Amino acid sequence: MIKLLKSHNQTQEFEDYETTIGLSALDIYLTRVYKFVILAPTSVAALSAVSYTITKLMGGYETVPPLGLALFDLTNVIYFLVALHFYRVGLKGDSLVKQEQLKRHKIAVGVVILIQYNFTIYLIPFNQWWAFAPFFIFFTVFFFDMKLTSWVTIGIMVSTVQSWFIKPEILWVADGVNKTPDILIRISYLTISAILLLSLTHLGGKYLIEELEKYAKYDTLTHLLNRKSMDSYLRDACRHADKGRQPFCLIMADIDDFKKVNDTYGHDCGDEVLKYVAHTILTGVKKTDYVFRWGGEEICIILKCPLEQATLAADRIRCDIAKDFITYKNDVQVSVTVTMGVCEYKPGMSLSNLMNDADEKLYYGKQHGKNQVVNSIQ
Ligand code: GH3
Ligand code: MG
Ligand code: MG
Repeated sequence: MIKLLKSHNQTQEFEDYETTIGLSALDIYLTRVYKFVILAPTSVAALSAVSYTITKLMGGYETVPPLGLALFDLTNVIYFLVALHFYRVGLKGDSLVKQEQLKRHKIAVGVVILIQYNFTIYLIPFNQWWAFAPFFIFFTVFFFDMKLTSWVTIGIMVSTVQSWFIKPEILWVADGVNKTPDILIRISYLTISAILLLSLTHLGGKYLIEELEKYAKYDTLTHLLNRKSMDSYLRDACRHADKGRQPFCLIMADIDDFKKVNDTYGHDCGDEVLKYVAHTILTGVKKTDYVFRWGGEEICIILKCPLEQATLAADRIRCDIAKDFITYKNDVQVSVTVTMGVCEYKPGMSLSNLMNDADEKLYYGKQHGKNQVVNSIQ
């Protein structure tokens, strides 16, 4: 348990980390998406069953047999309980096990949707069920899974055609006239809906992949950008600075005597200290700046401002880090400091020169008492 002896707001922000300790950013993202997609369709299915029943109890849906509706309600309650169970157990185990679980749960939701749709066809009079076809397919879209949405779409199409043979009057309007245009309108409506939703699934899948790629750029412990992604951000900042649009500074920060923290309180405590430092830096920079985990306990910052402002910002962050304690496991209080080297990019400068310069200043700070920001070497 980590508690920051800071303002209430920041304590709360840090508590977010507690619930996610041991999970990667990708895990957290997938867990959130998973919980939503597994519960959404079944909750709506159960709620719709409740609203049909209430309508029936109030005298509506005269042609619907009470026993049919009772059966419909019962299946809905079971669906909902199954979904709730999936929601509570979540996805556990390693990524291969998780994939298997997710596949099984998706198939379960797909089957639920098809059964629901078939019930709806026969139970909802006045042909209102037409509106439910895209509604059910729509929910599978949340999975962004082409295969699943395709199968559910095919299942719904087959159920619809089958219902025309069993209850041909479903195809007609109430007074039985204008049959042909009505059939055409409905078939084209279903087809257009299916195409639209399959395209949505396809685009959604692409979006999901882009999201995952975004997460691949982050370090799993600190949630900072990782070293691999730093090169492209640095080159981008250089391009802008070369065109005279936006000066920027590179800051190399290193936690002071971090080895001592690990040796005294253990590696887990060290990890929490690292997260705290990363979090404090992240909250201390602007949205347009970038923070990277460069190595073990070294953090790089790209600050989009000239040297003087960057030095002031770095010093403010340094003070923020030094002034708070981290309470580890409710009894150990740890405080840390950082040393930073700041270097401004000059047009035409090579990336390695920039890094070396910031590194030299950091080294100078380490040699001259630590817990300081160095922007020039005397
Ligand atoms: P200095 O003030 O000179 O920077 O001293 P230091 O002890 O911080 O520096 P040193 O480079 O000797 O030690 C860095 C330590 O950081 C060594 C390594 O075990 C630890 N470390 C690196 N990555 C991690 C990590 O992810 N978690 C933890 N807990 N420790 C880490
Ligand atoms: Mg170091
Ligand atoms: Mg260090």
